[in-house]
Amino acid sequence: MNEIARHIDRFNRELPAGTRLVAVSKFHPAEALMEAYGAGQRIFGESRVQELVAKYEVLPKDIAWHFIGHLQTNKVKYIVPFVSLIHSVDSEKLLSVIDKEAAKCGRTVDCLLEIHVAQEESKYGFTPESCRAWLSGNPLAKYRNVRVCGLMGMATLTDDEARIDREFGELKQLFDEVKKSGAVDESVFAELSMGMSHDYRLALRHGSTLVRIGTSIFGERVY
Ligand SMILES: *Cc1c(COP(=O)(O)O)cnc(C)c1O
Repeated sequence: MNEIARHIDRFNRELPAGTRLVAVSKFHPAEALMEAYGAGQRIFGESRVQELVAKYEVLPKDIAWHFIGHLQTNKVKYIVPFVSLIHSVDSEKLLSVIDKEAAKCGRTVDCLLEIHVAQEESKYGFTPESCRAWLSGNPLAKYRNVRVCGLMGMATLTDDEARIDREFGELKQLFDEVKKSGAVDESVFAELSMGMSHDYRLALRHGSTLVRIGTSIFGERVY
């Protein structure tokens, strides 16, 4: 078994039943993805539109492509025809553009709202407060071609496990709150995307359903 297949195998054995592995393949060549594919991996995460489209075109069609990076509204149209989940919806404007483009190709696109819980400054993501405030106006009811299936977040990049634990806890709390709020369809709001190579075990403790793993599967990224 090759190295990548061994890593996939290890994650499959370690992850609990309700948690799926997103193999984050950004900056890795199609051959590396095929090694993971050969080990049974079918969910791949990419963070750049051009790279995602290029890989989609050459790789097997039963792959579920997840978009995990910052998405510019003018690029939505390139991925909407085939993407299976967009983790990184960070504004109402973006959600409305996804809805419009999805309608054009007769699809309903699953999305997660990106929540900023980390200490680092970031331009992207709703804060928990802004998310609550926005959803209290029941803004999702008007969209026909997107389904908001859950939340995504990243913890602070730090060795301080207590801090990471707190941030994932905060995300989980917001998830539970939103699920019951009436602003989302409770039966589809089920995904909590949190945890990367260095912190996924902490994320699992808080009920992560999607872990996004790059380095621990494919090795260091080659830029
Ligand atoms: C790159 C990336 C990952 C994977 O990070 P690793 O540390 O390599 O596991 C996960 N989530 C997002 C949003 C990313 O951009």
